[in-house]
Amino acid sequence: MAIEASLSPPPNERFAKALQFIEEMTKNCDKVQEKVLAEILAQNANTEYLERFNLGGATDRDSFKSRVPVVTYEDLQPEIQRIANGDRSPILCSRPISEFLTSSGTSAGERKLMPTISEEMDRRQLLYSLLMPVMNFPDEAILCVDSFQSMYTQMLCGLLMREEVLESAPVFASGLLRAIRFLQINWRQLAHDISTGSLNPRITDPAIQARVAKILKPNPNLAEFITKECEGENWERIIPRIWPNTKYLDVIVTGAMAQYIPLLDFYSGGLPKPCTMYASSECYFGLNLKPMTKPDEVSYTIMPNMGYFEFIPHDPANPVQLNRDSPPRLVDLADLETGKEYELVVTTYSGLCRYRVGDILRVTGFHNSAPQFKFIRRKNVLLSIDADKTDESELQKAVENAYELLREFDTTVVEYTSYADTNTIPGHYVIYWELLVKDPFNAPSDDVLEKCCLVMEESMNSVYRQCRVADNSVGPLEIRVVRNGTFEEVMDYAISRGASINQYKAPRCVSYTPIVELLDARVLSAHFSPTAPHWTPERRV
Ligand code: AMP
Repeated sequence: MAIEASLSPPPNERFAKALQFIEEMTKNCDKVQEKVLAEILAQNANTEYLERFNLGGATDRDSFKSRVPVVTYEDLQPEIQRIANGDRSPILCSRPISEFLTSSGTSAGERKLMPTISEEMDRRQLLYSLLMPVMNFPDEAILCVDSFQSMYTQMLCGLLMREEVLESAPVFASGLLRAIRFLQINWRQLAHDISTGSLNPRITDPAIQARVAKILKPNPNLAEFITKECEGENWERIIPRIWPNTKYLDVIVTGAMAQYIPLLDFYSGGLPKPCTMYASSECYFGLNLKPMTKPDEVSYTIMPNMGYFEFIPHDPANPVQLNRDSPPRLVDLADLETGKEYELVVTTYSGLCRYRVGDILRVTGFHNSAPQFKFIRRKNVLLSIDADKTDESELQKAVENAYELLREFDTTVVEYTSYADTNTIPGHYVIYWELLVKDPFNAPSDDVLEKCCLVMEESMNSVYRQCRVADNSVGPLEIRVVRNGTFEEVMDYAISRGASINQYKAPRCVSYTPIVELLDARVLSAHFSPTAPHWTPERRV
């Protein structure tokens, strides 16, 4: 989040203007959308991509919807790769590409790359500037640690300025928990630095050293205070104890991050968790206009000026068939119906046209004429701890690869499921395996099962492996071998709750507490990945 510039108008004036802007945009939702689409199509009319669809300069919705196909990242990958390779011709966008954003979503195991133009960054900054008035806190000067500094320096600064910290903004909930874990491990060294006024010698970056030198002075009282708060191993309410003026946690706890709410409440003493923004590398979508609502009731209002938005009705019983050759008529932002679920499709100034973001949203109501959405889930994501997203086919592949190691023991995997265990910090993936060991005298040893864990990790996508290796935000994968017959019990349980026996499929991921408890009660042995999987920052070409 940006630190407010001191030369801008006083906050009240700015806040009133921003709120008025939100009102204008949401009152004229459909008109703004029409204008945004026309602007995008006019601006990008001469791109190689749009020229393919013979729009002939048309910028209206009908021409666009009847000619331009709905696409996924994979469809655009050849174009994006050319841009990444340095081709400066107008491929997707007429403006020069200023940077690539890397999404936490992956394609063929690699992070997705999103070409972006500088004016898009201004548009995103504008959305940020609308946040503060919505938050409506008395203190305008929100201090925010520099996200590019190392975690150590951030924590050190956070401790030195503990009275001034008004919000904690790590984006995703898992990031905040990681910071607390970091404090648990490093508080002695941090207190030492503060007591002596000298920076930990492990911090060698000259820029960071110079920066910290300006604010780090010996402060034995503060060091003593930190020691007193941390040495007792009592971490309940640690956030307000150390940072007494924190008003809220600016973390995303909707969607996959909801699993962290109990831990956040434990460490923060129940501080508000306003999920302020719904955004992605592709496009910043919108804001939560009532930030103090409980996380499970949060709705986001898509701001119609951010891009052109269309929606595919999402009904698993009645899926919409998308045919590339005859582009479908999707639903417009202003025409959505309350209570229904949709998949989001965006067209952006940076050159994505009718791009499927992969998020499923439910309309909860309207703010003026702009619909408000509850984030339901990301399509096809089974497991997620931090930025990692593992889908069903990736998990299946990982299990198959590990299964290869069991062949020589004449052992088969009868059934499996998975669980994102966030009771540990960092959280980790748990794979429940029911095995059929044909020869008890030749059963796979603990060693082999540990190797199976590592093989599964090696099979995961690069974001997972980066979280494991570089970020330490995901812990070693665990296999829990369950007793024979366990998955039949899981099925019996599902049927007793109304599942149809004909249609029953073992869930590939579980989160419902009674089922997790059932599985855990049948565990025969648990095995962890013995080392970290392989990961390098380079992209595979
Ligand atoms: P990335 O492109 O890596 O920044 O990830 C963007 C994705 O994160 C979105 O498409 C959503 O699936 C998810 N996301 C972003 N904001 C929220 C939010 N407020 N609540 C739930 N999920 C979110």
